[in-house]
Amino acid sequence: MSKSELDEAASPGMEPDPLADYRRKRDFTRTAEPLGSDEPAAAPRAARRLFVVHKHDASHLHYDLRLELHGVLKSWAVPKGPSLDPAERRLAVAVEDHPLAYADFEGTIPEGEYGGGTVLLWDRGWWEPDEVWMKQSRGGQVLSPDEALAKGDLKFVLHGQKLKGSWALVQMKGRGAKNWLLVKHRDEWARPGSDIAEEAPLSVASGRTLEQIAAEAGAQAAGGGAAEAGTAAGGAAEAGAAAGGSAGADAAEAQR
Ligand code: MN
Repeated sequence: MSKSELDEAASPGMEPDPLADYRRKRDFTRTAEPLGSDEPAAAPRAARRLFVVHKHDASHLHYDLRLELHGVLKSWAVPKGPSLDPAERRLAVAVEDHPLAYADFEGTIPEGEYGGGTVLLWDRGWWEPDEVWMKQSRGGQVLSPDEALAKGDLKFVLHGQKLKGSWALVQMKGRGAKNWLLVKHRDEWARPGSDIAEEAPLSVASGRTLEQIAAEAGAQAAGGGAAEAGTAAGGAAEAGAAAGGSAGADAAEAQR
């Protein structure tokens, strides 16, 4: 009997667990990522839907856009990261739903584990469907987020620290269901020619760089002597810098 069959057997007649994929890919005895076991039932209903962007220095550096919907974080891996330039159409590869608790996660995932590497909380805030933009482009029709995602055309407003204003996630027809494009709409928050990833690289949670997060995790893992900890931290920072060099990730690698 497979794990997914066991999951179904454990909850007969219930909705399939949206986090089954997320949990199947991870060994929670090794990674500090949240299990999300009590969600979504135990999570208080927030009036505003969360959004976060993680900067993830895994096998290839990429960004992960996460939008709260129905008690989980719908997630897309964006190899080049979001751009405030409406002329930049950024590939966004749909990946597994993540638990809401992941919105607070920053740290390292052990090498050899799924997504192994350093995770930085690059932006956070809340999002809402962009009804104004939807009406303009769909002849007055306003779709729910579920309908919009099913049609492969979500227009939404981000209220983050780095990302603001109206955006579109558009599914690429005939290019595999997982491939979407993330595009900034032209509005007062658009900044043609800018590179927000370059201009604002730090964590919105801790003010740290990727290298600092990696180094501090290395120092903790080393425990004992201060000299030992220093060496381990240096090694982790170097590993992070080396991994960060190959940013031109392809879609398959971007998912890790
Ligand atoms: Mn990732």
